[in-house]
Amino acid sequence: MKTPNFIERKVPLSQFTSFKVGGPADYFAQVGNLSELKQAVAFSNEHYLDIFVLGKGTNLLVSDKGFRGLVLKLSKEFARIVIEENTLVAGGGAQLVRTASLAFSRSLSGLEWAAGIPGTVGGAVKMNAGAHGFSISDIISTITVFDSDSLSLEKLRKEEVEFGYRFSSISNKKIILEAAFKLVESVQEEIKKKMESYFAERKRTQPLQQRTAGSVFKNPKGDFAGRLIEAAGLKGYKLGGAMVSEIHANFIVNVGSATAQEIYNLMRKIQHEVYSKFKVMLEPEIILLGEFVEVD
Ligand SMILES: Cc1cc2nc3c(=O)[nH]c(=O)nc-3n(C[C@H](O)[C@H](O)[C@H](O)COP(=O)(O)OP(=O)(O)OC[C@H]3O[C@@H](n4cnc5c(N)ncnc54)[C@H](O)[C@@H]3O)c2cc1C
Repeated sequence: MKTPNFIERKVPLSQFTSFKVGGPADYFAQVGNLSELKQAVAFSNEHYLDIFVLGKGTNLLVSDKGFRGLVLKLSKEFARIVIEENTLVAGGGAQLVRTASLAFSRSLSGLEWAAGIPGTVGGAVKMNAGAHGFSISDIISTITVFDSDSLSLEKLRKEEVEFGYRFSSISNKKIILEAAFKLVESVQEEIKKKMESYFAERKRTQPLQQRTAGSVFKNPKGDFAGRLIEAAGLKGYKLGGAMVSEIHANFIVNVGSATAQEIYNLMRKIQHEVYSKFKVMLEPEIILLGEFVEVD
């Protein structure tokens, strides 16, 4: 098979991640419709390449060495949002904040918590993103995926997917193309008030203007990763260009020219310190892509 002309070689991934770090993808394709998606997946299958679906890269740490497969990014037709009565259908590549503000514009409630979460709908469904006691699985009715093995579309009902805290059972073989959300009609002024207060809280408690990837670790049962990291004395701790945020200890900030490896080393340091003080092993929330070196 001839390489489709929209597949690029050696594309630096740092430009697509909120940490602004990460080496090149061997192959990179921005796909805007089903035909392009099928061609890209067929190409990767023919060349035995791994596929990684990239959203907005806001929950992601890509290795400095990059990724030896094909990175797919959804755009155009996969970023559409359509609202019919109380159902909002958003493409996997649509931005979550845009989805929430469109729902608001139609006086539909259910997505207020998403104000200020910088990812895509696909990334949010895969991660079961959430905030303020809500998560995206609360409002999902169906999810349309493209299976990269069988090259076919599947419509999954919510009940067919297992969702947990920052977890969904959707396999890495399935590319999330669309999700349908059941929303509830409400008073627009009330939706606005909620969104504004959630966003104000976010602005007060998170380093929104800096290069981060959101919460680095999941909260352990009954506790907060940020509280443990702060209690371990690591707030403001710096390792190369990577620093534990002064504003929220569960955020790592790229304060200059951090490498992905420095961010990784800082994650390891945090896990080690928190474990030795509190016997709690923090589990990463952010997704790691590519190779990292273990240092003692
Ligand atoms: C300042 C800041 C605040 C944040 N606050 C929150 C918060 O309050 N709550 C929260 O849950 N998260 C938060 N995040 C993290 C992040 O924004 C969300 O998890 C978001 O949903 C991830 O979406 P993304 O498009 O950036 O995914 P990416 O980071 O690009 O990818 C994350 C994972 O999703 C997969 N993926 C992405 N798109 C698809 C697709 N179409 N099909 C299949 N798999 C896909 C990727 O392969 C990867 O495994 C925050 C991040 C930042 C930087």
